[in-house]
Amino acid sequence: MTTRLRGVGVSPGMAIGEVRRMGAAPVEPPTRRIDPAEAPAEQKRARQATEGVAADLMARGNAAGGQAQEVLRAQSMMAEDPELITDVERRIAAGAGAERAVYDAFAGYRKLLAAAGDHLAARVADLDDVRDRIVARLLGVPMPGVPEGDEPYVLVARDLAPADTALLDPALVLGFVTEEGGPTSHSAILARALGVPAVVALREAARLADGTVVAVDGSTGEVLVNPSAEERAERARLAREREAERAAVTGPGATRDGHRVPLLANIGGPADVAAAVEAGAEGVGLLRTEFLFLDGGERAPSEEVQSTAYRQVLEAFPEGRVVVRVLDAGADKPLPYLTRGEEPNPALGVRGLRALLERPEVLAGQLRALARAAEGLPVYLEVMAPMVADRADARAFADACRAAGLKAKAGAMVEIPAAALRARSVLQEVEFLSLGTNDLAQYAFAADRQAGAVSRLQNPWQPALLDLVAMTAEAAKAEGKSCGVCGEAAGDPLLACVLTGLGVTSLSMASVALAGVRAALAEHTLAQCERAAAAARAADSAEQARLAAEATLAAR
Ligand code: PEP
Ligand code: MG
Repeated sequence: MTTRLRGVGVSPGMAIGEVRRMGAAPVEPPTRRIDPAEAPAEQKRARQATEGVAADLMARGNAAGGQAQEVLRAQSMMAEDPELITDVERRIAAGAGAERAVYDAFAGYRKLLAAAGDHLAARVADLDDVRDRIVARLLGVPMPGVPEGDEPYVLVARDLAPADTALLDPALVLGFVTEEGGPTSHSAILARALGVPAVVALREAARLADGTVVAVDGSTGEVLVNPSAEERAERARLAREREAERAAVTGPGATRDGHRVPLLANIGGPADVAAAVEAGAEGVGLLRTEFLFLDGGERAPSEEVQSTAYRQVLEAFPEGRVVVRVLDAGADKPLPYLTRGEEPNPALGVRGLRALLERPEVLAGQLRALARAAEGLPVYLEVMAPMVADRADARAFADACRAAGLKAKAGAMVEIPAAALRARSVLQEVEFLSLGTNDLAQYAFAADRQAGAVSRLQNPWQPALLDLVAMTAEAAKAEGKSCGVCGEAAGDPLLACVLTGLGVTSLSMASVALAGVRAALAEHTLAQCERAAAAARAADSAEQARLAAEATLAAR
């Protein structure tokens, strides 16, 4: 008989297949007392186990690359944490067996992490995984992990740890179901990245045995256990229909009721153009020109070299909009011939437009190269400056564009809170604004983009960041000018709806994100997006803002 269960759908789509459970975590190790004379040998065994697990995690990370590598490296560091190892050794000296000492030392660490708020609490699963690996090694039992074999399956787990998910073969995993987790858990993030359906927070998942057939609906959160042949066929049909609906959402970005939101691509140079065109980008919302300069050696590339590269991009979007950002050097992108090396705080120093205004010949050369590249093409070229702080900055940039004979709209990026607060003043000098939410979050929250320890504050769902976006979009509307978003925030389908509701006029993102954002916008009306935006702004944390927006958009 079919049983219907309901969890939280976090990654849309339908997966029908047999359950394969994650390798069981080792049970709690027995309390084994040791003789004081055995302590040194036992401590050595514990050290070897932690070192072995740390090395294994690092090797898995190196094999996986990308974002998984960072997570696995962090886990490897957890395994080798000197305080933890000291604690383990102390417990062994007091008479505990190595496995028990590891288990208990991690329990203390776990409590601290779980109490440290939403963001760190989410790392508890990573810590448990490290503990289980060390204990398994000490007990000589198999590591917990993903099932092996060649048949596609629905992966069922208590929660998923990055060490395992990094090794998942996407061709074999039809979908995920987990007992724990939420929309921001690893399982959810990974499922979305792999594009497989997933349901989390399904308590009854503990009772799903290997080999049971399930139908997982990642859109609604429903899981059918032992569906009949007809039910399977019906679900599969529904899934095909939905898939077809999503694939059918092509063409220009718009809400369900036809409010246009051009969807543009963020690119680093001509090499990225093909993927942007393939993904249906309506143009380029951010061409990060610094890559051309950073590759260029001791001095700025010649105007000739620059204009050839720019022209390749412009030709790919005949009659499309292409927004080129002039060189954004400094801080995390130092350029020896342009930026100062000796600044104590480079992110707050002479970077972006400030560096270009100190070396006006570099800016003038770039603007002339752009003017040459656009000659005779029907493209709508727009040029913007990074790190504009105020009206004087905007005027200096607009003057430079005019002086170079550039027939393109000049714009300003809003990445500094002062520019958001005084957007109307900035708009007296330029034709459009583009919100760089990555840096805007960094400066609004005094949270270094590079520092993992403050990444909670980099979350683009932070209501304070949404307030700054709203303020900027309202100012642009009042001035009758456009205001897009080109920071990473634009690539999150749900947040894209919220940004639209806040009044931004275009969204620019990595090409891979375009289809998801296009489909999400097409599902909701502008009024729904506006309600979601208001609900998100009324929240007090990034997590609550996301949940509020999600609930509002689901309510229809
Ligand atoms: C931003 O800061 O949001 C942005 C788009 O620029 P970058 O990420 O290149 O600093
Ligand atoms: Mg920036």
